[in-house]
Amino acid sequence: MAPRALTLLFALPLMAAAQTPTQSTGRSYVIRAAHMIDGRSDAVQNDVAVVVQGERIVAVGPRAQVEARIPAGAQIIDLGGATILPGLIDNHTHVLLQGDITSADYDEQLLKESTPYRAIRATAALRIALMNGFTAIRDVETEGAMYADVDLKTAIARGVIPGPRMFVSTRAMSTTGTYPLLGYSWELKMPEGVQIVDGPEEIRKAVREEAKYGADWIKFYADRRYYIGADGRLRSWVNFTDEELKMLVSEAHRLGKKVAAHAMGWDGIDAALRAGVNTIEHGDGLTDDLLDRMVAQNVYWCPTIFVGVYVAPGRGGIWPKAVDLERVAFGKALKKGVMISYGTDVGGYAWTENQAQEFAYMVRYGMSPMAAIKSATSVAAQLLDQSDNFGTIEAGKFADIIAVKGDPIADISELTRVSFVMKGGAIYKQ
Ligand SMILES: [Zn+2]
Repeated sequence: MAPRALTLLFALPLMAAAQTPTQSTGRSYVIRAAHMIDGRSDAVQNDVAVVVQGERIVAVGPRAQVEARIPAGAQIIDLGGATILPGLIDNHTHVLLQGDITSADYDEQLLKESTPYRAIRATAALRIALMNGFTAIRDVETEGAMYADVDLKTAIARGVIPGPRMFVSTRAMSTTGTYPLLGYSWELKMPEGVQIVDGPEEIRKAVREEAKYGADWIKFYADRRYYIGADGRLRSWVNFTDEELKMLVSEAHRLGKKVAAHAMGWDGIDAALRAGVNTIEHGDGLTDDLLDRMVAQNVYWCPTIFVGVYVAPGRGGIWPKAVDLERVAFGKALKKGVMISYGTDVGGYAWTENQAQEFAYMVRYGMSPMAAIKSATSVAAQLLDQSDNFGTIEAGKFADIIAVKGDPIADISELTRVSFVMKGGAIYKQ
C-alpha cells in the first residue's frame, strides 16, 4: 500500500505543471514575415522578424533591427508574404462531443460510446484544433465523460498527443431533472451529461471534488426551457436557487477557480450575474440592463454565434429566434464595451467544421476584424488569466505563432486557412 501512495504523491507536481508544454525542441528559430498582427497593437506591422528560443519568444520587431542579433545556430523560417498572428484561443469547446444538433445525436454518444472511445475521438478533435491554428482552448465540460478532459490535457502537456494548451472544467453541474439524458423509462438508470447536484452542501462537495481531480474552471448550466416572453425577451427557466449558486461561485472562487455559466435566456443570465460568475456562455437573451451589469462586474461574454446558426434549422422551435436576438445583443455589447471573448461551442457541431468560422459572424455582426482577432488572442488570454504566457506576439511569451497567406483584415475568412502553426516553439504545421 505504501509505495502506491508514494507514487501518487510524486504524480501531483506533474499534474500541476501540465500547462507548460514539454514538446519544445529547445531550438532557436527566426520567423520572417511580410506582416504581423501581434494581438496587442491595432496596426498591422510590416517586414517583421520573431526570434524564438526554446519555448518562448525572445525578440520581435522590424526585421533589420531584430536580425542584427540572431542567436547562433538559429533556423530561419521565411514565411514570405504571409501574415503572422498569435496562436488562436477558443474559450468554449467540447472536445469530448462530436456534434449534437438533435437530442438523439447526443444520447447516442452517451449510450453507445465508451469514455475511452470518446477520448480517442477527442484526440482527433484536438489535433484538428491545433492544425487550424488554435493553440489554446477552454474546454467547458465533458458531457458525461467524467474527467477525461484532464487526461487529454495531461497527454498534450507531456507530448503524447498534439493539441492546444487546455484549460478544463471537467463535469459541468446542473440539478436533478434539468439536463440530458432525459425522457427514458424511470426503471432505467441512465448516464448523466453533467454532475447532478442539489442543495448547497452537495454543490460545495462537487466543486471540491472537481478541483481535486484537475478542474481549472467550474461550469454550470444556469437555465433551460427558453421561450419568448410577453416583453419580447428570450426568457428561461432557472436551474438553481440563489442559495445554491451563491455556494457554487463562492466555493469555486475560494479554491481559486473561475466560474463559467451556460446562460441563454434573460432569467438565466440574471441569476448567473447575481451569483457573481466570471463568464456568460451563449447569452442570446442579453438585453441592455444585463449588458450594463456585465460591464460593471467585469464579466466576459462568449457568444458562440456559429453554433446557434448551425443547429437552428435542425432544432427549430425557439432556436432561429434566439439567433436573431443574439445578433441584436452583439451590436449592443459592442457599443457598451462588453468584453467579448472568442468561443465557438465546437463539439456542439462536428469538429470537421473549422471553428474559425465564428470570426466571419462576429465581423458580420459589427465587430472590426482587428477586434475579432483580439477577442481570440489577447482578450481570450485575459479571460484565462494567461496574459503573461500567451495571447500576443511579444518577447517573454510562449512562441504560439500562426500564419495565414492572405490578409485577414481584408478578409477575415483567411483565418480558416492557417498555413503555419507553432506552439511553444515546436512547429506543427508548415
Ligand atoms: Zn457548450
